[in-house]
Amino acid sequence: MDLQLTGKTAFVSGSTQGIGFAIAKKLLQEGASVIINGRSQERVDNAVIRLQEEVPGARVSGFPADFSKAEEVKHLTEQLGEVDILVNNAGIFEPKAFVDITDEDWLRFYEVNVLSGIRLSRHFLPKMLAKNWGRIIFISSESAINIPEEMIHYGSTKTTQLAISRGLAELTKGTNVTVNSVLPGPTKSEGVDEFVSQLANDKGITFAQAEEEFFKTMRPTSLIQRFADVEEIANLVVYVASPVSAATNGSSLRADGGVVKLII
Ligand code: NAD
Repeated sequence: MDLQLTGKTAFVSGSTQGIGFAIAKKLLQEGASVIINGRSQERVDNAVIRLQEEVPGARVSGFPADFSKAEEVKHLTEQLGEVDILVNNAGIFEPKAFVDITDEDWLRFYEVNVLSGIRLSRHFLPKMLAKNWGRIIFISSESAINIPEEMIHYGSTKTTQLAISRGLAELTKGTNVTVNSVLPGPTKSEGVDEFVSQLANDKGITFAQAEEEFFKTMRPTSLIQRFADVEEIANLVVYVASPVSAATNGSSLRADGGVVKLII
């Protein structure tokens, strides 16, 4: 299928590694120009070089900005030019008992996971509506629906993203702009790799054993019983980002390995 992405420009927040990096790479492979982002200039530069090496001819550039800092986000939006596709991917997660989650933790999670997408959408949605074309995609999570008891703060930010995404989609009525959410399931990004390696280390077992145990005890409803690869998430995101997905608007699309037991 030709995804017709040549000539489109995308901005992917939090894309120096993990799912965001895979989305950036796949958009580049499909011919889009991509602006990537991470917290430091060094990490952004390294990721740009890797993408140029992995995708010959890639039109890729990058801007550092920390989404926990409003001034840095303001500076970022002032620097960014025209964007056709906005992927709100930057996000943090961390298991913590509810009683130990402080006000500061709650605010940090909302700033990075929720306000990041709000600030970027506030900047880009009016421009997309003015030119009558655009795509906004929120990278939420299966944890938006299956609130994990070990990180309620995280789950709640992911549910909020769904509400914002659907609300913004209402503002696109009758236009060629769409706003959707993609809900990955447990996915083997660098962030999750670290988390599972730590779990394996602590228990003196291999990564494969830790993965098996994770799905048996913490995600028993998963139908694939393994972590998804970042590319498997990126495939769906790049489809939604493309002109060929025009009839999909206001949706929450799952790439969750079947972990959420819903039939629609
Ligand atoms: P990751 O930790 O591997 O990568 C996160 C990226 O976000 C990195 O590039 C990091 O630099 C960036 N980032 C983090 N904090 C930032 C900040 N304050 N400012 C700017 N950038 C920042 O994570 P991942 O697993 O690839 O997750 C990406 C997205 O996918 C997140 O929104 C996450 O909630 C969502 N998600 C992940 C999984 C999973 O199992 N990996 C499952 C469901 C949803």
